[in-house]
Amino acid sequence: MLTNKFNLGFFPTPLHELQNMSKSFPAYSIFIKRDDLTGLACGGNKTRKLEFLIKQALDGGYNTIITSGAQQSNHCRQTAAACAMAGLKCHLLLGGDEPQTYTGNLLLSSILGAQIHFTGNNRKGEDTLVLKKELEKKNNRCFVIPYGGSNIIGALGFIIAVKELKKQLKDSDLTIDYIFFPSSSGGMQAGLTLGIEYYNLNYKLIPINVDKDQTNGRPLEKIVLEIINEGFNYLKMDKQFGLTNIPLNKDYDKDGYGNLNENEKNTILELAQQEGIILDPVYSGRAFNGMIDILRSRKIPEKSNVLFWHTGGGPAIFEYSKPFTKENGNYL
Ligand SMILES: *Cc1c(COP(=O)(O)O)cnc(C)c1O
Repeated sequence: MLTNKFNLGFFPTPLHELQNMSKSFPAYSIFIKRDDLTGLACGGNKTRKLEFLIKQALDGGYNTIITSGAQQSNHCRQTAAACAMAGLKCHLLLGGDEPQTYTGNLLLSSILGAQIHFTGNNRKGEDTLVLKKELEKKNNRCFVIPYGGSNIIGALGFIIAVKELKKQLKDSDLTIDYIFFPSSSGGMQAGLTLGIEYYNLNYKLIPINVDKDQTNGRPLEKIVLEIINEGFNYLKMDKQFGLTNIPLNKDYDKDGYGNLNENEKNTILELAQQEGIILDPVYSGRAFNGMIDILRSRKIPEKSNVLFWHTGGGPAIFEYSKPFTKENGNYL
C-alpha cells in the first residue's frame, strides 16, 4: 500500500541545521528538510504525491493526465516532468491569460512537453470536466489529478516522508519538536498528520496558511480533515479526527495568494544571504517568514528544536524578478 509507487525523485532529501540562521535565534535550534531537492525538474513537495498518483494512473491503464493550478504552479511543472518520465500525455489547466513570454514554472512546464490551457480566473481546476470530455471524444483515457495533487493517494507520499524523517532523526541522534511548512491545497498537511499518527510520533505541526481563498467552496481545514479521516480508514486505523484536531496558522495570508509582501521579500533575502538557500515567493517564503516571526516573538517554548520543511518552488522566483532587482543600491 505504502510501497505501490512510481519512482520520480531522490530520497531521502537532505536534513541539516541552519547554523548561521540559528545564531540569530539563540533560544532555538533550526533545522531544514530539503524537499526543494527532490530532483524532479527542479524539485519540490509535489514529487512525493506524484509518485503515488502516477502509479495509480499507470495501474489503471490511463494514457493522459489532466491537472490544474496557477500559472506559476509547481505542482503542474512537476506533473509535466512526471508524465514525461512515465510516458503519459499531460494537459495543464492554468489560471490567467497566456503571457507573451513564458518564465519560471510556466516555461518549464512547456519545455517538459505539457499541453497548456489558459483558464482566466479559474486556477483550481474548475474547467477540468469540460476538457476531459473533449479529450475523451478523441479516445484519450484521462486520469484527473486534483488541484495540488491533494487526495488520499497523493497524501500517501507524505506518510512515507514522515517515516523518512523519523529514520534521519534517529540516525543523527536528533529530536524535533515543531515542524513548520506552507499549507495550501492540503495534501501535504494531511499526509504529515497521518504519518505522525501512523508511526506514533509527537512532532507538532505548524502549517502556515498561504492562500486565504477557499477551494471549490471548501475551506482548507475541511479538505485536510476529509483526507485525514479517509486516510485513517485506508490505513485501517481505528481513529477519527474533528476540525479541532486540524491546526492552521492564518496570521500570514492577508496579502492573498501569490502576492509577495515586503517582510517575505526580506526573509527570502535573509535566508539566501545567510545560508545560500532559495525560498520561493509564493509558499516557502511566506511560511519561513511566518516561522521566524513566531520564533522572534517566542510563541513556542524556548529550547525547542524546530524544523522547516522546504517545499521547493524555486522556479517561481524568476517570475518575481522585479522586487529582487536593485536600483540605486536598493531592492525595488
Ligand atoms: C504545493 C506547494 C505547497 C503546499 O502543499 P499542499 O500539499 O498543496 O498544501 C507548498 N509549497 C510549495 C512550493 C508548493 O508547490
